[in-house]
Amino acid sequence: MSEVLRLDGVSKAYNQGAPNEVQVLHDVSLSLQAGEVVALEAPSGAGKSTMLHIAGLLESASEGRVIVGGEEAHSARDHRRTALRRDRIGFIYQFHHLLPEFTARDNVILPQRAAGVALGVAGARADELLKSVGLGHRINHRPAELSGGEQQRVAFCRAMANSPDILLADEPTGNLDPGTSDVVFEAMMVLVRDTGLAAIVATHNPELAARMDRRLRLVDGRLEAI
Ligand code: ADP
Repeated sequence: MSEVLRLDGVSKAYNQGAPNEVQVLHDVSLSLQAGEVVALEAPSGAGKSTMLHIAGLLESASEGRVIVGGEEAHSARDHRRTALRRDRIGFIYQFHHLLPEFTARDNVILPQRAAGVALGVAGARADELLKSVGLGHRINHRPAELSGGEQQRVAFCRAMANSPDILLADEPTGNLDPGTSDVVFEAMMVLVRDTGLAAIVATHNPELAARMDRRLRLVDGRLEAI
C-alpha cells in the first residue's frame, strides 16, 4: 500500500490566544492509503470541514504536519501548495459551487485549463467524465438547468478533472433527498473505485458511512476509529 496523505499531530485553534479562542482539532493523525475510502462522521460543528480544509491545503494547521504524496506540504511555499492542491487533490462540497454562467462541460474543463491542459484534451476528458456519471445528455446544460443530484455529479466530475490522488468530500450528498443521495453516492463510489482514488468523505449518514472501507469520527476535536 502506498500512503497518499498523512496528517501528523494536527491541531487547530481559531482566534488563538484571544478570549474567544476555539480549539477545533487536537492532535489529529491519519494515514490515508491509495484506493482507500474513509468516512468522517461527526455532528455539525465538530470540525469536519476544518480537518478537510487542512488536509486539502486550503487552511493551515496551528500545529502538526500535512504530508501529501510523501511531500511535506504544510511548510511548502504558497505556489507549491497551490500546485499540489490543483494536481493531487479534488474537492466536493455540500453545495455544488459550479459557475452558473458556464455549461456542465465548461465547469469540468476549467480546472484542467488552469493546469495547462489543451482545450481539445480537456473537452474530451470532461465529456468522458460526465458520461461516466450518466450525464452524457446534460453536457451543454448550465447548472440552473440541472437537478440537485445532477449538479452534484457535475461537481464531482470537476473534482476529478485533473485526475487527483485524493478526493476530499464535505457532506457531498447532505443537501439531497435520500433517493438522489443514493444515486450520487453510487456514481461517486463507482468512479472512485475505478480510478483507485483515495477519499475522505464527511457525512452524517451512517448508511453511506457503512459502505466505506473505514469509519472515523471526531469527538471533542480528537479523531477516533469507529
Ligand atoms: P463541521 O464541518 O464539523 O460542521 P467546522 O470545521 O465547520 O465543523 O467548524 C468547527 C468549529 O470551528 C465550529 O465551532 C466553528 O464555529 C468553528 N470555526 C470554523 N471556522 C472558524 C473561523 N474561521 N473562526 C472561528 N471559528 C471557526
